[in-house]
Amino acid sequence: MKKIVAWKPLPEDVLAYLQQHAEVVQVDPAQHDAFVAALRDADGGIGASVKVTPAMLEGASRLKALSTISVGFDQFDVADLTRRGIVLAHTPDVLTESTADTVFSLILASARRVVELAEWVKAGQWRDSIGAAQFGVDVQGKTLGIVGLGRIGGAVARRAALGFNMKVLYTNRSANPQAEQAYGARRVELAELLASSDFVCLQVPLTAETRHMIGAAELRSMKKNAILINASRGATVDEQALIKALQDGTIHGAGLDVFDTEPLPADSLLLKLANVVALPHIGSATHETRHAMARNAAENLVAALDGTLTVNVVNRDVLGK
Ligand code: NAP
Repeated sequence: MKKIVAWKPLPEDVLAYLQQHAEVVQVDPAQHDAFVAALRDADGGIGASVKVTPAMLEGASRLKALSTISVGFDQFDVADLTRRGIVLAHTPDVLTESTADTVFSLILASARRVVELAEWVKAGQWRDSIGAAQFGVDVQGKTLGIVGLGRIGGAVARRAALGFNMKVLYTNRSANPQAEQAYGARRVELAELLASSDFVCLQVPLTAETRHMIGAAELRSMKKNAILINASRGATVDEQALIKALQDGTIHGAGLDVFDTEPLPADSLLLKLANVVALPHIGSATHETRHAMARNAAENLVAALDGTLTVNVVNRDVLGK
């Protein structure tokens, strides 16, 4: 019987499904040596949120497929997996809408100061009718710049254009004609997007090219009243430069779901800033979506081990090897 290592707890029915196809060994990835030993003895693996390095796969000669319960695959060295002939599967689409909801929550919460003012009410500060000191800024009718208008970016653009009458700008390496047609999205250079947007929203994958793509210079080129939204990966932004820009008033605020270090250390300067909304990486974190992702990843893994997976494959070069 095939052996699968799972490094993330799985819903009961998903575990039962995998057990129909293989012996499932559940490991705690914090127990590094036990995790590596389990990988060495497995045909497949399923999990999320943990780096799986080439060194961890040395001697894992049986390993045929890894399945991440996420759309992002920056925890893996894809070229190395391809060299080893290991299929890497991921879960696009099932999480697109709930992640776009999170992005929009950050836009609204940052602009209308929802978190800050809710805390203010809870602290008993609401003693009179509110005044300008509690006002936020409008979202509707403003310009949203989406850096990386793919699946999630497209779902954000739909909310923005159709729900909030926003103008949508975007940068991609290739055009997205569907978003241009359906949401009036306009493809521009990053410099123009940064200079013209009231909200700059990052939705690119983390790659060598996108790491720190927003640093001090880019923050300086944004409008003074702009808000930066990041629900991609923490490292797409230079976090130290962002902290400085927020402290200095270079930009107005930030709505962040992702950080350099996660969990975000309790002493992070980001947590001292009133103009920051910080969420604990909840992009896709609804009961329904997380269940659908786990199911999708399990089905991807079973099909990959059977040699029948044709969709959701990150390294397609490996198929047929
Ligand atoms: P996607 O459909 O592949 O979209 C990514 C977009 O980024 C594409 O339009 C791509 O267009 C663009 N892009 C890639 N590299 C670029 C570059 N160097 N410069 C400019 N644009 C670039 O992926 P998705 O499903 O929307 O997911 C996007 C990312 O969101 C994931 O990789 C993940 O890191 C993150 N995410 C976070 C959460 C969370 O919990 N916060 C949840 C889900 C996903 P081109 O290829 O034409 O450049």
